[in-house]
Parts: sequence; C-alpha cells; structure tokens
Amino acid sequence: MKYCTCIAACLIAFASFSQVPTKIEEEISFPKKPKLVIGIVIDQMRYDYIYRFWDKYGKNGFKRLVNEGFFCKNTNFNYVPTYTGPGHASIFTGTTPAIHGIIANDWFDKENLKKLYCVGDINVNGLGTNESEGKRSPVNMLTTTITDELRISSNMKSKVFGVALKDRSAILPAGHVANAAYWYDGSIGSFISSTYYMKELPLWVNEFNKKELAKKYLMEPWNTLLPIEQYTESLPDDNKYEFIAKGETKPVFPHNLPELLRANGGLNLIRTVPFGNTLTKDFAIEIIKNENLGKSSETDFLTISFSSPDYIGHAYGPNSVEQEDDYIRLDNEIADFLNFLDAYIGKNNVLLFLTADHAAPEVPAYLIDLKIPAGYVNEGKILRNLKSYLFANYADSLVLSYSNQQVFLNRKLIALKKLDLKKVQEDAALYLQNLDGIAEVTTSTALNNTSFSEGSRNLIQKGFNAKRSGDVMVNYLPAWVDFHKTGTTHGSPYSYDTHVPLIFYGWNIKKGSTADQIYITDIAATLALMLNIQFPNGSIGVPISHLVK
Ligand SMILES: [Zn+2]
Repeated sequence: MKYCTCIAACLIAFASFSQVPTKIEEEISFPKKPKLVIGIVIDQMRYDYIYRFWDKYGKNGFKRLVNEGFFCKNTNFNYVPTYTGPGHASIFTGTTPAIHGIIANDWFDKENLKKLYCVGDINVNGLGTNESEGKRSPVNMLTTTITDELRISSNMKSKVFGVALKDRSAILPAGHVANAAYWYDGSIGSFISSTYYMKELPLWVNEFNKKELAKKYLMEPWNTLLPIEQYTESLPDDNKYEFIAKGETKPVFPHNLPELLRANGGLNLIRTVPFGNTLTKDFAIEIIKNENLGKSSETDFLTISFSSPDYIGHAYGPNSVEQEDDYIRLDNEIADFLNFLDAYIGKNNVLLFLTADHAAPEVPAYLIDLKIPAGYVNEGKILRNLKSYLFANYADSLVLSYSNQQVFLNRKLIALKKLDLKKVQEDAALYLQNLDGIAEVTTSTALNNTSFSEGSRNLIQKGFNAKRSGDVMVNYLPAWVDFHKTGTTHGSPYSYDTHVPLIFYGWNIKKGSTADQIYITDIAATLALMLNIQFPNGSIGVPISHLVK
C-alpha cells in the first residue's frame, strides 16, 4: 500500500512532465532483484562484428540484445596481454593481471622454473575423465570474482555455475566458491569437472554426456547457413590467409566434418566449428534446468563462454566466410537461449550481459598485401639472439624464458655473479628495442618504480604482476605477431585486440547506448552495485553510471 500511495503522489506531483510518469512506471515493473544473472563471454569477438554482420542476423539474437538492451559501444580491455585466461579473470574480478595474478594462459613460474597453466592444479583430480584436463581449479587466481561475492553475500544460498568448452573460460568466471564449473574434454567428447568442486559428477551431467551430442553434431558437413554468395562481408571462401585442415586440400565449404573427424581423430574437432557453440548452449540450458537456477528467493549466477569463435578466428581470421558463418549461427544460438529464458523465467527476472575476452586483428599477411604496415616476429629467434647477445657481454645467457612477450632472467645466477640486475635488464631491453617488429620495451625495475598513467606502458603496467611477471616486457608494433601466416592471433594493447562489445539486457536495464569509454574492469563493479553486494576484493572498476543511476 505504501508503495502505491507514494507512486500516486509522485504521479500527481510530476503530472506536468509527460516523460516522468512513464519512467516511474518502467522502474516499478521490475522485481526488487534479478532471479538469475547470466554472464556471456564470447571468445574472440570484435565489437564491429555487431555491425558488420547486422544485416545477416535474425531479429532475436544480437539484434534483440542491442535493440532492447544497453550497448556500451566503446568498451576496452585496459591491460596486456589480451588473452583468454586474463580476459575471463578480469571481467569477473573487475581488476587486471597486476592484481588478480592471471598474467597469461600459461606462464613461466619463477619459483618452480617451469610452465604453469592458469587453471592447472595438481592437488585436485578430474571428474568424468582420467586425463590431466581434469586437474583444474581457480587456485592461481588471487582475488575474488563478482560470482564469489554473490555467494558470500547470500551466505552461500545463491548458486553459481560456469560452463565453456575451454576449462579456463568456465573456471575463472565461476570463481573460488562456485557450486561447479564444467568444461569439455575432447578425448571423450564429454563435459567434465574436478574434485575442487565436488566428489562426483551429478547424475544429470552423466546423462547429458551419454547423449554423445558432440559426435552427433559432427556427423554432417559444415556448410554455410545462407547461400554462400550472400557472404559479401568476407573475403572469397578460397583465399591464402586461411588454415588448411588435415584432410582438406583447400580452406573451403563444405567442410566435410565426418572426413575431418577421421583424418584428425578425437572429438576436439567440435571446438573449431560453430557446433561447439551449440553444444555449449545445450549444456548451459541443462545446468539452468537441473540446478533450478533462478527458482529460489536468492539471485543465482551462470557464466557461459563460447569458445569456438576463437578457434575459428585463429584458423581462418576475421575476414573469412567461416567466421562470418560462425557468427550468423552463434546469433541463432543466442536467440534460442533468450527464448528459453523467456519461457523459463521471463526477461524481467534475468540480468544478462554479453562481452568478449579479447578481439583480434586482421590476418597480418592480408594487411601486408594491402600495403598496410604489419609483420611477423619469431619468438624463438628473439630468444636465441638475446641469449647470444648477453653471453657475449656477461659470459652467460642469463635468460630462463621468453614467453608472453616477457623475458625471465636467471636472477639466482645474476646474484651469484654479483651482477647488477637493473643493468642486465636495461642491457637486454636496449638490445631488444632495436629488433624488427619491436615497438617498445620496459623493465620490471621501471614498472616497480614509475607509475605510467597512459599509453601502452600503462596497459603493460596493469598486466604486470610484481611477483609473477618477467624482467623485461616487450610490445610489438601494431599488427605484428608471432604466428603462422594463416589465421590470426591476439594479445596486444592495440584497439583491434582490446575493443569488444558489451551489452546489458533484462532486469532493470533500459534500452540505450553510450559511446563513453568503458573498461572491462567496470563490469564487475556495475554488477555489484546492481545487486547491492560487495565489489570483488581486487576491484579497480568504476560502475557504469548509465546503468546504476
Ligand atoms: Zn585465442
């Protein structure tokens, strides 16, 4: 009653402003809190894919999100490297690798002198698999996620799940206290998990796996959804910038999946075709139904990451008919998923956001042919040359690793030889600075002693974790990569890698858009204010003012 009286009073008071009553009515049509939050991450989505393929999309997928939701058109990653592990961690922790510690997908572990995988955990075992793919957990992530904070704030009554084909894309978003994260094991074609979360897989997961959907989706050739002559946004299907799969002689449609399955073996093939997105969506819907998400008085949270666009981008690049078809089909999956949510719980009870873990450049070889500066570096060669250079000066190579564009020096040896670490770092930096394809070089000493407020050094600093990162950080020139000449890769501080879509939709979201600069770390802070819960404990984000007014 109190509410009604208040609204009536407001309506009378503002009767002369015709816009105001509509606004108030809109606001009260939403429940007090969302029943379910859905965080969708698309692996390797450039923001321009919204526009480039707009005319090919149906009404109910990306177009529905843009037309009914709030589109932050100028959303960027604010650190390097723009890879999948750091990307998913940063979206959900609201901070950058400097603080959450996921400095790459895998990195040289200075303590144990070997590679460490971002979600590798030798202390847990796989569930549903005997492979090492099961030994996974979020243990290497140093801060809480928005999903952790939701669980803590509800005294663990809110349920949190994560799913993706890639383990890191399921595990990092779901956080440390998730009910479960599920990822795909291509050796058996099943969704698996680990003992970090539970003792055994739920019955419904086993039932889902028994359907062998991955195998079924690979039984027919991959053909374009629309007649191929309509893919006018992309390069011709047969072009030299695309990867040729084992079992094929040209990178063209139709891709004979049963034949490729025979030639390549293993159901990992599903990752590199759009049906990997179908499988992910299928499993996401099963989580919602079987775990009764959104059906209690507490807000639940499901994170979904679509991994296939990244595999397809790496193989064929952003200008391929393959990637265009992948997005047209992904649009259908999103439409399906939104339809499911309408029927299951209703749009106004779901707060959904969609973004990406990084974007991607054009294939550099294609840019070179267009006379646009671009190029290829060879990191193996950079490492060898740097080692010989330091050997000539110090009678020892002094380098343990060059990985993720970071040089890891042998600090023990440097101390033993009583060398000046700062001087060795600077020598290495000066040498690297002169190599082809290298734009700039920064040392850990500089990063520890100086605060860079803008430019790529600022992004390098936000990606620099004082404990885990290397001694010398290298940034390549725009469109220079260490990769083969077909397909593309990502990881740089440049706009083509950092600029991603961000759309909020559903509960309490009014239609609109902004061109304001939004950083990827702002998402978690925005969600925290919307849900009236604590920010993740390493958060550096600023809530998006349009959404939390
Ligand atoms: Zn990738």
